[in-house]
Amino acid sequence: MKYIQAASKKKTIQRMIEPVTKEIWWSMILHGIAGGLIPVLSVFSMEWITSRILKSNVEIQEVIKIIAFVSLAGFGLETIKTQAERRTYNKINYIRLDFLKELMHKTMTMDLKYYENPEFADEMESCIIAVQSNNNGIEGIYHTFYLLGAKLTGAILLATILAQINFWIVVVIGLSVLITFWTLTKISDARYKRKEELNQAERRNYGYGHLTTDFSYGKDIRIYNFQDRFLESYENEIKKLEGIYRDLFLVERRFSLLSILGLVFADLFAYYILASQGMTVQISKFVMYLTATSLFSLMMNEITEDFANIHREFAYCKDTIGFLDMNLITDESDKNYAPSTPISVEFQHVSFKYPNSEKYVFEDLSFRIEPSEKLALVGVNGAGKTTIVKLLTGLYRPTSGRIFINGIDYTQFSIEDLHELFGVVFQDVEPLAVTIKENVAASSSDIDEKRVEISLRQVGLWDKISQYEKGIDQMLLKIIDEDGAVLSGGENQKLMIARALYRKGTQMMIMDEPTAALDALAEEKIYSEFDQIMQGKTSLFISHRLASTLFCDRILLLDGGKVLEEGTHDELLTYDGLYAHMFKTQGKYYQEVEENEKQASAESI
Ligand code: ADP
Repeated sequence: MKYIQAASKKKTIQRMIEPVTKEIWWSMILHGIAGGLIPVLSVFSMEWITSRILKSNVEIQEVIKIIAFVSLAGFGLETIKTQAERRTYNKINYIRLDFLKELMHKTMTMDLKYYENPEFADEMESCIIAVQSNNNGIEGIYHTFYLLGAKLTGAILLATILAQINFWIVVVIGLSVLITFWTLTKISDARYKRKEELNQAERRNYGYGHLTTDFSYGKDIRIYNFQDRFLESYENEIKKLEGIYRDLFLVERRFSLLSILGLVFADLFAYYILASQGMTVQISKFVMYLTATSLFSLMMNEITEDFANIHREFAYCKDTIGFLDMNLITDESDKNYAPSTPISVEFQHVSFKYPNSEKYVFEDLSFRIEPSEKLALVGVNGAGKTTIVKLLTGLYRPTSGRIFINGIDYTQFSIEDLHELFGVVFQDVEPLAVTIKENVAASSSDIDEKRVEISLRQVGLWDKISQYEKGIDQMLLKIIDEDGAVLSGGENQKLMIARALYRKGTQMMIMDEPTAALDALAEEKIYSEFDQIMQGKTSLFISHRLASTLFCDRILLLDGGKVLEEGTHDELLTYDGLYAHMFKTQGKYYQEVEENEKQASAESI
């Protein structure tokens, strides 16, 4: 893998042993002893019963006593074994869930440059495999290892019994088992080697499958006749996937043939030895050894499969642990910084290109925002407006150049403190399926309900929300609660603005096309209220709609990675450059839209 280094064997084992509690170890020992004695009991019971039955004067009562004893002892051992296993199963499950939680936390806190990199995402898929299910990966290894104790104890005891008649039986069965183990590891190594190809092919297959059922694409697919194009690509992807599976199947077939031959030979050898020595031992002993041989062979095969499973799943665990132990947060500093007044921001000769791209979004970009100033950043799509927000909030760092907050290089602040300074509202906002107050406070505890109300009032959502029976305790979305409320696109955006306002540490508001989902009238209304909403905080407004930024103190027009024009709205109009041209063109368009909307709302009344 290119970005994620698998952890070493030692490190992975250490990390996997760490969460195993004493309770689980004891349960495993108990399970191992009880489970290991069960096959031995079966073997001896064969001898005890056969020897009694073959006596010339069979004593039925004695036979019944033995059967009763064996059944009782077997039942006791089985009960201990299953009870221990049942009680431990959930504890093992929790260990995996803890690893999953750690992984989710890592994914949600890692730098955005990793999150937005598709190659990294592909590699991360392999790291998720090991924490995804109960029977594979980390949890699969714990369960298999837990059960192995009993099988190993049983196998060792049976080997000791068999060694008494002929040690070679143990050796030959052991050898055949080693061959099986070797072949199984070869098969799983072949699969692991192609895991990235497999992940990619499966992801793409899923992607195409998903596209065909996603309602939002339904109209375009039909109107523009995309069906054939989709099906062709889908077929290509399926062929790729089939090709990989075919190769893997060939490897599997070749190696499993070798393993079957080994097993058949070992069994034949063992039964041959037994048959040839059968003449010299008592029949009851012969039956006992025969049972021991078949149980030993069976158990050794199970043990081999278990070890091969562990070997296979361990490779994925190494990836997961490697990912978990990576430092994916660029946080050079631990300096605390929490100013209590609106901040100033300065970009000094900032150049930036995305990590997976060769093209610079900006080169040598410099501009300044004064405390409490309202600055508008305008420019065509792709000019780099959102990238400026990502840089300013520390989601990405400049490739070169520096960014200052209140005159201090912002790399000196811890990332948490930096994030605390900004209240950001992005264009594509979605509330979480939690209550309104949790959405506003971005937390589920210590919520200042009065502050939630004030923030909702400031954005003009209070009237709507106070009408809900549960008020700010109303759940949103229907994912978790069937009675959850669903807000309109514009209301969602207002909710996100309320969230930005709620935060006490916010000293700068950033609105990245926050009104994109609002209609022109609602947009005009919320912009006219922005002055009051922002409460004198430093503010950065991003909009493709120039008229909406008229209330700002200053406007920067970004074009071709540079600040092309700068000034107040009137200054830029007088300058009569690109801004003035865009403003006039948009003016005509929006005038028509607004008139249509006004007419439509008048008609609906
Ligand atoms: P704007 O907000 O002005 O529409 P953006 O800041 O979103 O522009 O994008 C600026 C440029 O950076 C565009 O060319 C875009 O394709 C590119 N870009 C944006 N995000 C990424 C990314 N994660 N990786 C690579 N390129 C990106």
